[in-house]
Amino acid sequence: MRDSYISKRVAGLKPSGIRKFFDIAATMKDVISLGIGEPDFTTPAPILEAGIKSLQRGETHYTSNPGIMELRKALSAHLELHYGVSYDPVNEIIITVGGSEALYLAATALLDEGDEMIIPTPCFVSYQAQAVLAGGVAVEIPCKMENNFDIDPKEIEEAITPRTRAILLGFPNNPTGAVASRENLLAVAQLAVKYDLIVISDEIYDRLVYGVRHVCFSALPGMKERTIFLGGFSKDYAMTGWRIGFAAGPASLMTGLLRIHQFAVMCAPTMSQVAAFAALQQGEEYVQEMVQEYDRRRKLIVKGLNEIGLPTFEPKGAFYAFPKISVTGLSDEDFSMRLLNEEHVAAVPGNSFGKGGEGFIRCSYATAYEKIEVALERMRKFVNRI
Ligand code: PMP
Repeated sequence: MRDSYISKRVAGLKPSGIRKFFDIAATMKDVISLGIGEPDFTTPAPILEAGIKSLQRGETHYTSNPGIMELRKALSAHLELHYGVSYDPVNEIIITVGGSEALYLAATALLDEGDEMIIPTPCFVSYQAQAVLAGGVAVEIPCKMENNFDIDPKEIEEAITPRTRAILLGFPNNPTGAVASRENLLAVAQLAVKYDLIVISDEIYDRLVYGVRHVCFSALPGMKERTIFLGGFSKDYAMTGWRIGFAAGPASLMTGLLRIHQFAVMCAPTMSQVAAFAALQQGEEYVQEMVQEYDRRRKLIVKGLNEIGLPTFEPKGAFYAFPKISVTGLSDEDFSMRLLNEEHVAAVPGNSFGKGGEGFIRCSYATAYEKIEVALERMRKFVNRI
């Protein structure tokens, strides 16, 4: 027998640091979780009903590989309306199994063995893994709190080598809540042209922004041809369990993504596609309501954490606050573990999100206002004690 039958590629993946905390939290009563990376809202009623009705009509079969044409048309119109960027529903949009599948398709379609993908970090835990799974190398460029966790185009340029194929941006950002400035995104666009790179832009939190306008990367001059635009319904429409997202890009690139999608999953779940169509048609008022509520919680948590003495940058998007806990003298792992064990508050250590996350913790405010109040009180007690 061999020592292991698992491929080197898979064996080389680091397990996600988030799971460990959830497993411990699950054994405790009265835990308040600020660890969750998904909306606490249930999917809005009209979207829910559209999915149920689709099943009741007997729509229990595959759809075409890239997804139901009405949905692709509606999504194309939606992106045109919001960002002025135009995608042909016929060959420039693929409906995927969440933004997660879209990430996998993009990395796998672009990278050859040993190719490098530059990733500003801290970032969503799956980014580095996608590069590795595709046989590539994740090159992490840490964003800093003193720069509002924005990208630094100069550092990105310094990291570019002849093996660099893509830059993967995720803004609004998980875990920092940062949005990238138009100026810096324009500078990345120039780098993409100068070094002939593709930008994968994960904009899954595009609608969850507070007091700022989301900048769509592919809408920047000349960028549509160089961008794989990833998004989804999980966050904006509280649809995580439906597993529905999309990738959009120039037909020449989308052909590559579609080939993998075709063989790996065939198509996104049919009832979820119908529900996503309803989300685009009827979801706007719910998005607005959820954004208002997130904003209320955002203000509460940012003020609360700063008052406790944990310096916290003001997040402008998504639903995360990212306090600097290194001021307590504890590491982010120790801080999170002790906070969970001693005060029953779950948060995620910043190092789980890659370079630059050490010394911070991610606190999700996708949880009820009243629970956040209690969590802050418990954190105050904890910080005063240590
Ligand atoms: N991108 C980012 C930045 C995320 O935070 C997440 C979910 N945590 C995803 C993509 C994937 O979301 P889904 O697969 O549910 O669409």
